[in-house]
Amino acid sequence: MFNFKKKYGQNFLSDKNLLKAIVSDSEVSKDDTVLEIGAGAGALTQELSSIANKVIAFEIDADLEETLLSLNLKNVTFIFQDFMKVSLKDFEKDLDRYKVVANLPYYITTPIIFKLLEESEKVESLTIMVQKEVAERIVCEAGSKDYGILSVMIKFYGEAKINRIVKRQMFNPMPNVDSAVVTIKIDRAKYASINREKFSKLVKTAFSMRRKTLLNNLSALFSKEILKSKFDEKFLTRRAESLTIDEFINLYKILEK
Ligand code: SAH
Repeated sequence: MFNFKKKYGQNFLSDKNLLKAIVSDSEVSKDDTVLEIGAGAGALTQELSSIANKVIAFEIDADLEETLLSLNLKNVTFIFQDFMKVSLKDFEKDLDRYKVVANLPYYITTPIIFKLLEESEKVESLTIMVQKEVAERIVCEAGSKDYGILSVMIKFYGEAKINRIVKRQMFNPMPNVDSAVVTIKIDRAKYASINREKFSKLVKTAFSMRRKTLLNNLSALFSKEILKSKFDEKFLTRRAESLTIDEFINLYKILEK
């Protein structure tokens, strides 16, 4: 009998209809290569294997190796490693475009999303099971209480939608929260002229103290004199949580000049 490891965020799925629905949300077809993060006992891996051309699945827990290898899935490569320690540059060397499909370990959901957004040159889309509240932060618009760095950066790299809400009872063991399946489609051409790292630094600084104005937060990067010479007071007294992605892009472009 397998002992679930809480520290690895192990909450497994088994409902066939749900697994098929996730694969359908991902729009994976027979031409696709799929990256799965956290194969668990392979429930989702098996569904993916029957639809995709090829699946590469990471799993950190060596205790699952026997179970996964005994599934004997011909078009699946299992890699028993911590995904956060993988160099995506090396990983992508021999690959074309690919799609990510995963029921993510919740303790590192955001780091995994940022790793893929920031380091990958070849990922096309992410269809991921995340906590419902993270899903809300991913898709929400400016002005909402959930709007933050994650919301803005997702809009910078592409666009996201919630496909379905998944009740906690669907997982074994059952987590304390409900979940949602989100799809993020990546569009690298969208803001190709913008330096990703500088933009990300600007967004993070703008949100560093949520209750503070743009003037106060951005003064960590630019002097108040410079900020006042480029923007009017009304704008500078706004908070980051009210800025749309277009307004962030404008802010960036004016500050770059
Ligand atoms: N896909 C399976 C399991 C999802 S649970 C299913 O849907 O049933 C999340 C899985 O991620 C667990 O098996 C856990 O061991 C694995 N995991 C946790 N941290 C990881 C990491 N850093 N790298 C790779 N896998 C990880």
